[in-house]
Amino acid sequence: MSTQLDHEANVAGRGLTGDAAASGGAASARVLSGRSARELLASDQAHLWHPYASTTTPTPVHLVRDANRTLLDLEWLDSEGTTHRQWVVDAMASWWCMLHGYRNPVIVEALRRQAAELPHVMFGGLTHEPAIELGEVLAELAPADLNRVFLADSGSVSVEVALKMARQYDIALTRRSGTGRSPRTKIAALFGAYHGDTLGAMSVSDPVTGMHAMYAGAIPQQPFLRRPPVWDAGSDEVDAWIDEVDDQLCAARDEVCAVIVEPILQGAGGMYAWSPAALAGLRRITRNLDMLLIADEIATGFGRTGQLWGCDHARVVPDIMTVGKAMTGGSLTQAAVIATEQVAGTISEYTGALMHGPTFMGNPLACAASLASIALLRHGGWREQVNRVNRAFIEHGRGLNEMPGVTQFRVCGASASLEFDQPVSIPVATSIGLEHGVWFRPFGRLVYSLPPYVCTDDEIARICAAMAAIAEATGQ
Ligand SMILES: *Cc1c(COP(=O)(O)O)cnc(C)c1O
Repeated sequence: MSTQLDHEANVAGRGLTGDAAASGGAASARVLSGRSARELLASDQAHLWHPYASTTTPTPVHLVRDANRTLLDLEWLDSEGTTHRQWVVDAMASWWCMLHGYRNPVIVEALRRQAAELPHVMFGGLTHEPAIELGEVLAELAPADLNRVFLADSGSVSVEVALKMARQYDIALTRRSGTGRSPRTKIAALFGAYHGDTLGAMSVSDPVTGMHAMYAGAIPQQPFLRRPPVWDAGSDEVDAWIDEVDDQLCAARDEVCAVIVEPILQGAGGMYAWSPAALAGLRRITRNLDMLLIADEIATGFGRTGQLWGCDHARVVPDIMTVGKAMTGGSLTQAAVIATEQVAGTISEYTGALMHGPTFMGNPLACAASLASIALLRHGGWREQVNRVNRAFIEHGRGLNEMPGVTQFRVCGASASLEFDQPVSIPVATSIGLEHGVWFRPFGRLVYSLPPYVCTDDEIARICAAMAAIAEATGQ
């Protein structure tokens, strides 16, 4: 019987994939790798729409031929149409995810095993060991009290879920109190924030860099709080900010049910490290006003800032936390919302179900990858890795502050950013980076790096040298 089924599956597989399957996997791989970069990139330009890109005036894209550890094997065409091919250090860790490097054997093996057993199954009404284990591990790692895990399939989705939880929690509070007050629906956020690209997540991202004007009418209007003082600001400045935010939130206490922040380090909104004392102050204010604090740890989580969570710098426990990006060690998309039992229980008791359920929620492959990545963090000494990257950036980045056109070189945990006095041209900066053996993806006035934790000192030195070359060539 099983032979019969296997046979039918084979036939069906061949029917679906056509010539490629009929001629065997190896042959189809050869056909693919035989195509020239010129041809592939032309086809890319004809059919694909890249992130943050125009189809009519596209920024050039680079073809990934191979990847290993911290390195990408890239092939690309320059403005004269000449092809180049080179292994370069990935200073971006694939948008901050690839903590343990490409093709990490532990993660590859976990994926291989899970793919052979159960790559996917729906999560509605069903459960499985990888998700259960991941729930245990996340509840254990998250700050105390946060132990109810909702798995999501991307960072933006987890932010949407967190926003829905916050609103539903407030509805639950009104029902519990029986006072008949209207539920509060606004979520306050910080100027300079980035929380994702879906409409709800955009509504709490910086209004200017988040392009609210483009989608006016479609994005809910939210109150924004002044950007908190920098990381090492004095207590006078921090106290003034706390007083101001206290006044603003007090005045909005009938509308605002939660405040969302990227604890300690604002990422895609400008790589801005801010005062832990300000975060602690915000926690006190939200508690006094019965508002939830949502910590978006999608970029800061899993050790990036030098503590496991950004909140740990301020010894703050949020009510809801979102994690994503580095969760699977960069191998697959997965995110999670982790709430306190108090929030989850109140929502459930007074409003019933939380109405959210992505199709690929709890995907077993992604869960297996997350478990492998978290095991690597725990057993690989992430704290020493992050401290080493931090020290290397400080050492090799000496002098970057004084470069022409540079306003500041900042290092926070395993991240470094070079801020210019003018917007950086993405094509110019990337091509100078590549000439120096480094892959960057700049934004706004920033050339920055959040490299894999396994980067060597030499590789960090190379990243800093490439930053210097960009300043040299573009600054005035
Ligand atoms: C990247 C990011 C998101 C969005 O995550 P996606 O997986 O890209 O949807 C949300 N919040 C923060 C802080 C992020 O850095």
